[in-house]
Amino acid sequence: MAEWFCSKCKVAMAEVDDIKLTYNEVDLPEAPGLRCPQCGTEFLLDDYVTGELKSAEEMLEGK
Ligand SMILES: [Zn+2]
Repeated sequence: MAEWFCSKCKVAMAEVDDIKLTYNEVDLPEAPGLRCPQCGTEFLLDDYVTGELKSAEEMLEGK
């Protein structure tokens, strides 16, 4: 995996797996992503988010 850098601090972001998500005011399970050790900004890994939001959407729509 390529290194990611915080756009604000220009420091390498740490890989974490406890990023909290909400989607349409629904709490989703903690997700893997990246957190800036300096400012605490969190980013999700794009493809994970896409899959997770999709399944949450399908769940909410009862599909
Ligand atoms: Zn930062």
